[in-house]
Amino acid sequence: MPLPLRHLFDYQLPLNYPIEPKQGMRVLAPFGKSDRIGIIDSISIVELSDPYLQKVKTITSIIDETSFIPESLIQLYRWLLQYYHGYCGEIWQTMLPTDFLSGQETRIARESVWKISDAGLNALNENLIRSSAVKQKMALTQLAQMPNGLSSQALTAIDISNTTIKTLAGKGWVTQEFTTASKQYLVKPESTLELTNEQLTAVEQISKSLDHYQCHLLFGVTASGKTEVYLQLIEQVLNNGRQALFLVPEIGLTPQTVKRFENRFDTEIALLHSGITNKQRFQGWLKAQSGEAKIIIGTRSSIFVPMKNPGIIIIDEEHDLSFRQQQGFRYSARDVALVRGKIEDVPVILGSASPSIETLLNVQRGKVNQLNLKHRAQTTQSLKFRIIDLKQQAMNQGLSVDLVKAIRQHLKERNQVLLFLNRRGYSPVLLCHQCGWSESCSRCDINFTYHHQSHFLNCHHCGSSRRAPTECSNCHSHEMTPVGMGTERLQETVSQLFPQARIARIDRDTTQKKSAMKNYVSAIKSGEVDILIGTQMLAKGHHFPNVTLVALIDMDGALYSADFRATEYAAQLITQVSGRAGRGDKAGEVIIQTHQADHPMLKQIIDQGYHDFANLTINERIETELPPHSYAAMFKAESHQSKDAEQFLMQVKSVLQQNGNSVFLAGPAPAFYFKKAGKYRYQLFLQSNERKQLHTLLQQSITKIDNLKLAKRVRWRLEIDPVGDN
Ligand code: ADP
Ligand code: ZN
Ligand code: ZN
Repeated sequence: MPLPLRHLFDYQLPLNYPIEPKQGMRVLAPFGKSDRIGIIDSISIVELSDPYLQKVKTITSIIDETSFIPESLIQLYRWLLQYYHGYCGEIWQTMLPTDFLSGQETRIARESVWKISDAGLNALNENLIRSSAVKQKMALTQLAQMPNGLSSQALTAIDISNTTIKTLAGKGWVTQEFTTASKQYLVKPESTLELTNEQLTAVEQISKSLDHYQCHLLFGVTASGKTEVYLQLIEQVLNNGRQALFLVPEIGLTPQTVKRFENRFDTEIALLHSGITNKQRFQGWLKAQSGEAKIIIGTRSSIFVPMKNPGIIIIDEEHDLSFRQQQGFRYSARDVALVRGKIEDVPVILGSASPSIETLLNVQRGKVNQLNLKHRAQTTQSLKFRIIDLKQQAMNQGLSVDLVKAIRQHLKERNQVLLFLNRRGYSPVLLCHQCGWSESCSRCDINFTYHHQSHFLNCHHCGSSRRAPTECSNCHSHEMTPVGMGTERLQETVSQLFPQARIARIDRDTTQKKSAMKNYVSAIKSGEVDILIGTQMLAKGHHFPNVTLVALIDMDGALYSADFRATEYAAQLITQVSGRAGRGDKAGEVIIQTHQADHPMLKQIIDQGYHDFANLTINERIETELPPHSYAAMFKAESHQSKDAEQFLMQVKSVLQQNGNSVFLAGPAPAFYFKKAGKYRYQLFLQSNERKQLHTLLQQSITKIDNLKLAKRVRWRLEIDPVGDN
């Protein structure tokens, strides 16, 4: 049953039921007061005389006549269940589309066209149509000129109604034809690029493993042409009659990405991402399942899409945190991809300019084969880096004199400038100049972000908001002052400094409308923008050849953090953001503003590159015995009463200690964001140098933990390989 429960329910099948049950089929079964849709997990046969049958309810019906869930996905489900210690119903809920679980029909929607029949042609030629039937004559005349027929929509557009068509169909003068399975796969060779030597080596090496599982890391600097490598491999996979699954980060699925695929392949591509309706998602899922969609492009949950004939799994920007699901059933799509690749026996490619430490350690351990693209595909120019030490610098609203000079220079040369600041809103605090009072979100205990244009305070943590005060609640002064800088304020500052420049700000606040991002991208590409200001959304994937200067306005926040992965994330961010510069034929410059100009990570990234930084980081993790060198899990609990969550985790800890082995336990401790949306949050951290030891302990303890009284009073989760604080 699709519920967050750790156990299954037994049902019996009516005697002589006409459909043979199979794993993965949907059934309708009595549950509580009504019938519910569930999935067949496994089947066993018992004697009719077995007294157990007396206690077991009978299913109402089997919905599917065949199973839509291939054996490989059932295997994957079993792996997820035991690796993540998850709830079976919740895992199926995560793996399957909503429309499938709600019992929708599994039919692929076909487009149909109306065509004129021989009888219709005859009627037209012999003038057998009543003279009053003007519309009928018009329809036949139109259709006679359209040997491929016209769809209902096309007919409506030329003012021919469904009723007219139905009448004609009744007379046998027109017929309806359904377009059968999709277009055949076809490469458009004109868009194929001649590979560089490095690209060629990568394609050749990976080609050798197309018929079995092997994980490759395509470690290619930004703009080295990783996408071209993917496209040429996918071409081979399609030539072998197989399907390709291409995963991208949440915000990486841009119209630009899709366009590159559509320009190359004339075939059915299923797109699966958060911007589509349930119905569209289900259609894409069905087309992947039936083998009709040759290419599936999607975000993290697409790793669960069934495929008739899988041939390759590609994860682009594999380091991206959006491959980690942070709500409900927590999993890492990248890690799941490796398991799926093994089960399906197909190659998996992880691509990135800044690979995760997890993947690089797997390379060291010989589990992943690394291929390098060290040079940019189109240019021989390398990036010029400059760190601006902000200590004691004269600043103009967050911009140093040197940065302003550099921007001016690049604009003068008629190039585009990208300013990166990972904080939206006007300022992170609005405080009273007289007494220092500021308002924070009472549900989260963190400062509200001030949004100037709307004059609102927003909590970026829980989403609550209110009008910004004009008067201090504490001393009633009217000097409420924004402190610090977000993108909204940066835009204001920049437009004052460069009144002639055309500025585009791209963040979550300015791209809420559906077509907004698309419009920005085309404006930037066609040179209608001089300065781009943006958050994360601008950091990755985009190819803007005229951007020659990229500036990271504030790198301080990213370097100060309690998370042991903070420098890894910051290094990835710098690599990705700076990769937006100099992608065309002009040289690129990258400027980093920071108060920590001596930070060793910055020096490594700039002088030696991400690769050397990563090697040092791996050694550090080994020395300090931190993941991915060791294996971690975390119990997280939250409750309205602070002590409930903490007490629950104390009890969890003692259960774990009773089962005692040498797994290291730390906590319970307050989470980094101790309060969120009115709840207090605690965590208990588990770590072991042996994965097996950790999992055995969890396996032995989980039922006891489920049965703790407090387990029903607090909200809690077990997370495997936890990242960040969510
Ligand atoms: P990445 O995915 O590694 O960031 P892209 O695939 O976006 O890089 O490639 C960057 C640019 O280089 C694109 O404009 C692409 O068309 C171009 N490019 C890639 N490979 C080649 C090649 N072999 N010859 C010429 N141009 C190439
Ligand atoms: Zn005050
Ligand atoms: Zn809040």
